Amino acid sequence: MTHTAPQNSPAPEHATEPLLTASGLSRSFGPTTALVDASLTLYPGEIVAVMGPSGSGKSTLLHCLAGIVRPDGGRVDYDDTDLAEASDSRLSDLRRTDFGFLFQFGQLVPELSCVENVALPLRLGGEPRRRAERTALDWLERLDVAEVAGKTPGECSGGQGQRVAVARALITRPRVVFADEPTGALDSLNGERVIRMLTEAARDSGAAVVLVTHEPRVAAYADREVVVRDGRTRDLGGLG
Ligand code: ADP
Ligand code: MG
Repeated sequence: MTHTAPQNSPAPEHATEPLLTASGLSRSFGPTTALVDASLTLYPGEIVAVMGPSGSGKSTLLHCLAGIVRPDGGRVDYDDTDLAEASDSRLSDLRRTDFGFLFQFGQLVPELSCVENVALPLRLGGEPRRRAERTALDWLERLDVAEVAGKTPGECSGGQGQRVAVARALITRPRVVFADEPTGALDSLNGERVIRMLTEAARDSGAAVVLVTHEPRVAAYADREVVVRDGRTRDLGGLG
């Protein structure tokens, strides 16, 4: 299956409708313009790499797509909802039920064990502790880090911590995972391992991934690449 359609044009090779369509996004922070007329279309299950230099607006774009930052203009259509206009409670529900998040670092709760960290999204959704932790342990095994289940994040290596974070991002079986430079703090060997496990696990569970990265080796795991420059998006289509 290939996903090579230019954005905002008919996509005959896609059997389904887009999962998320952002168009005309603009956002400023005081005098700084972070996004200008940015667009992105995400199809179910596809992995899109968002690339571009530091300060070009990648994180702001990701935050707008995920309902974390409200754009000043434009729309983000997801499931009959325009996230640019949705209520705060609808946005926080979506972030909990439909979206998973993965950041560069600092996302695990330092006081909790790794298995408790991975179980946390299920616990917040009301699952009993034992069942949530059993599922969490399955995910840790899948990501080949079961050995750190009882450790705190501070006792893990960087690569182990990111694999725990991948497990936590996927445990609710989100429809979209938003990953912002998830390998940015890792050496190339561990970065490669994390990105391979993230993309494999996402494909297995049918999640789409928006993957912000400035590393071409990481972007190579995506189906399609979008470049952000000075707050504007450009779709480079499929990757060889
Ligand atoms: P990238 O992720 O590509 O490095 P960002 O989206 O983080 O880029 O930032 C784009 C521009 O917006 C930068 O000039 C940055 O300084 C500015 N910016 C982003 N977030 C904020 C914020 N919360 N407050 C002020 N300026 C911000
Ligand atoms: Mg950023």
